[in-house]
Amino acid sequence: MKTKKIYYTDPYQVEFDANLCEVLKDEKGYKITLDQTSFYPEGGGQPADKGWIDGKDVLDVKKQGDVVYHYMTEEPQGPQVQGKIDWAHRKEYMQQHTGQHIISAVLKKLCNFDTLSVHMGEQITTIEIDTLEISKEQIHTVESLANAIVCENKPLESNWVDQESLHKYSLRRQTAKKGEVRVVSIEETDSVACGGVHCRETGEVGLIKSVGVEKIRGHVRTIWKIGDRAFKDYNEKNEIISELKTILSTGEQEIVRSVTLLKESLALSERKNKQIESELAQEIARSIASQKGVSGNYIYGNIWHDKSISLVKKIVQELITKRKARVCFLTQANDSLHWIIGCGENGTIDFNRVRSELLPLIDGKGGGYSPLWQGIGTNYAGAEEFLKRFKTLCS
Ligand SMILES: [Zn+2]
Repeated sequence: MKTKKIYYTDPYQVEFDANLCEVLKDEKGYKITLDQTSFYPEGGGQPADKGWIDGKDVLDVKKQGDVVYHYMTEEPQGPQVQGKIDWAHRKEYMQQHTGQHIISAVLKKLCNFDTLSVHMGEQITTIEIDTLEISKEQIHTVESLANAIVCENKPLESNWVDQESLHKYSLRRQTAKKGEVRVVSIEETDSVACGGVHCRETGEVGLIKSVGVEKIRGHVRTIWKIGDRAFKDYNEKNEIISELKTILSTGEQEIVRSVTLLKESLALSERKNKQIESELAQEIARSIASQKGVSGNYIYGNIWHDKSISLVKKIVQELITKRKARVCFLTQANDSLHWIIGCGENGTIDFNRVRSELLPLIDGKGGGYSPLWQGIGTNYAGAEEFLKRFKTLCS
């Protein structure tokens, strides 16, 4: 059996009539074959078409040999059916695929970079090329020439070519395919073996925009926004720039400088804050240690509600190094209970007992190494008992 492929004879035919040939069923649902179809099956980096047969959703399309299988959860009633592909989805991927051929052709022509693999994703199209690096200038000239080819509105054609005639086409990439090969050509620009569906003319592709380059598996992967997607991306980026201009009260050209200055000033404030926090920790530690009845190896305990975790940690460090005390504090911050235990060099803490006897009181978890242990808990009601037990444990 062979399915007549309307997507090759007329890639612009959205609706079609067909005869239902076979209905198979597996665990995923129904697997339908028709005598002819506009539904493009997944292949060559281009995803399968979406759409409907007799108004029922077609979820996936795959080709095995010469037969196209339509995957559905509801069974269409034959003997004749009406098919309709999701044109917005198809057009989007025709733009991606033709755009990719243009970019790959230009990468070869200008830089002699071969295309190794292609992926047409839901957001971006990526082209992996055979080079260790590509400069900004190279990307820029590739992008410019690709857009010029779009503007020249060059026609595309596809031909089934037998092995003897294949030499007449100077293929950008050698093919290992046997028998008849489908060759997709862009006038005076590119010829390559390809099974995908393409635009009639390069003008239909629209804008081609490079949006990134990354290194992967020792190669370079170029990232592209093509067609309506590129236009949408331009709109979104414009919106972001507009918002930034308002937030920063500055002009477009000043955004980068403005953000750099902000980052520098933030880093300076953070350094100052850390210094103030250290001084504050020393002061609080001194005040605690000078309380009546407090001696060098005393056990301090407290539940705080107004101190940051980093400040409490600094206070504990201060008390265990300078006062050599055993310390336990609980602090409530960011909607959770934090515990911290420290031990000066004159004392010891059996953390196994802390884990088995204290942590369950606050539904806590955490750990550490001498002289500091810390973690979080969720049961606030157990906080007082936690401190009391700590004192018992140390005595
Ligand atoms: Zn292709």
